[in-house]
Amino acid sequence: MIKNNVKKILSELPPNVQLVAAAKTRTPEEIKEAIDAGIQIIGENYFQEAESLVKSGPWKENRAKLHFIGHLQTNKIKRTVKIFDMIETLDSLKHAKEVDRQCAMIGKIMPILIEINSGREERKSGVFPEKAEELIKQISGLKNIKVKGLMTMGPLDSDPRPCFKETKQLFDKLKLEILSMGMSDSYKVSIEEGANLVRIGTAIFGARHA
Ligand SMILES: *Cc1c(COP(=O)(O)O)cnc(C)c1O
Repeated sequence: MIKNNVKKILSELPPNVQLVAAAKTRTPEEIKEAIDAGIQIIGENYFQEAESLVKSGPWKENRAKLHFIGHLQTNKIKRTVKIFDMIETLDSLKHAKEVDRQCAMIGKIMPILIEINSGREERKSGVFPEKAEELIKQISGLKNIKVKGLMTMGPLDSDPRPCFKETKQLFDKLKLEILSMGMSDSYKVSIEEGANLVRIGTAIFGARHA
């Protein structure tokens, strides 16, 4: 089933759109099935899950790039920067400085996306759209971080299109490369609104395990 889902989604995506398989709660075997079917980027929300994934046998047989798409925790950044190829959810100067410091120690330059709280929801992570430019300016002095683009979740309980539209306008204004928007229920809309990276979980792996 995973194989068919991946093949179908890949065949439907425009060629400029990258697909991240959002793999929270999935086993290394399920993830390997997705990679074998053509997935090139795995998104993980939880550091511990990612760490056990990269130590697993299936991952060693056929690995993909790894994007962090969860909430960063300061005390785990050291181990996070070691195993991830991109952090999609950076939203504070404090975390940026710690990512930079830890990357400097291992000689790595981390590509990151700034997470935008495009729905301006109080308890959501991400910076408000009007704060993004200032944060990017502050980060631009950090040598071991490269800001590549923007990421947004959008509201889950209402039409995400206006939020995707606003995030795209900001993305154009800032002249960035990667715009990560859209999940299983919203990726088609997000692509219409200009996303060039989509993060898809349930439409690949099925309903999440409890
Ligand atoms: C889980 C998750 C997704 C994928 O969600 P689905 O609805 O399962 O496609 C995308 N982005 C983030 C940040 C997630 O946590």
